[in-house]
Amino acid sequence: KTFEALNLHEALMKGIYSVGFKKPSKIQEVALPLLLSNPPKNLIGQSQSGTGKTAAFTLNMLSRVDPDLLTPQAICLAPSRELARQIQEVVDKIGQFTEIQTHLAVPGSWSRGQPIRKHILIGTPGTLVDMLSRGKSIFDPKMIRVFVLDEADEMIALQGLGDQTVRIKKMLPPSVQNVLFSATFPEQVQQFAEGFAPEANKLFL
Ligand code: AMP
Repeated sequence: KTFEALNLHEALMKGIYSVGFKKPSKIQEVALPLLLSNPPKNLIGQSQSGTGKTAAFTLNMLSRVDPDLLTPQAICLAPSRELARQIQEVVDKIGQFTEIQTHLAVPGSWSRGQPIRKHILIGTPGTLVDMLSRGKSIFDPKMIRVFVLDEADEMIALQGLGDQTVRIKKMLPPSVQNVLFSATFPEQVQQFAEGFAPEANKLFL
């Protein structure tokens, strides 16, 4: 299998090659056709770090946002600021030949009354809750098309992050494509995942 077979935009192919990826990793090979299919379908995926899941959900986000709309259209949540920053680096690198821009949504990264004119928000749940508590003044949640949750098991283990994620999800349109990755799926995470991404394609490698 090759990246060529996935019908990605030319600018994204350039991004992939510039980071040195020659062919899709196993998870990318299976997840990308599921993620990129139309109409969009939810995905629940099991994967450890080191498998290439970040690039998989990154390519999906970059494929689904419209660079001409200067407003957030994808949200990716991570359990820590550090992980969010690492994800942003991947999105920025793979997306470097597109017009798509990212915003790291962590405490102190935004100010009241100042709309965010970036396409993809990557951050921690508390900051997104804060932003959305300002109504549409920071960004309009109705414009979100993709909602990604990375390391869901970590997220749920940390006090309040699962609840905040649910609060955010309730403010997004029902048409949003929900994507959840987790390294482990104990009962509690499984239940959470079913609620977060109903009727999802499931990927357990
Ligand atoms: P992740 O599982 O997202 O934490 O990524 C693990 C590592 O694999 C990162 O250092 C990526 O740069 C690398 N990686 C992801 N996809 C590929 C690929 N298709 N070919 C080679 N390396 C990759």
